[in-house]
Amino acid sequence: MAIVKVWIEEGCTVCNECESAAPEVFKILDETSVILAEARQDGVEGLNETEKSPLAGDLGSELEDEINEAIEACPVEVIKFEAD
Ligand code: SF4
Repeated sequence: MAIVKVWIEEGCTVCNECESAAPEVFKILDETSVILAEARQDGVEGLNETEKSPLAGDLGSELEDEINEAIEACPVEVIKFEAD
């Protein structure tokens, strides 16, 4: 199973767990974590909540464990995903 899309909903508490687990995908800004432009097929940095851009290249399979770790570590469960 690979992760196809990952996005962040409202409510991030900027705890840094996701960036620690998967720094290739998540980046902490002042008020929220975002999905890095390089990690997204559309190349746009942001929550990816409305666009739901797929992950770039093979990131969803290469970093599946790290992304899952970030999802499980999020204390407010705002990291959402689609997998195939
Ligand atoms: S783990 Fe969750 S609450 Fe913490 S920075 Fe990431 S998205 Fe925000």
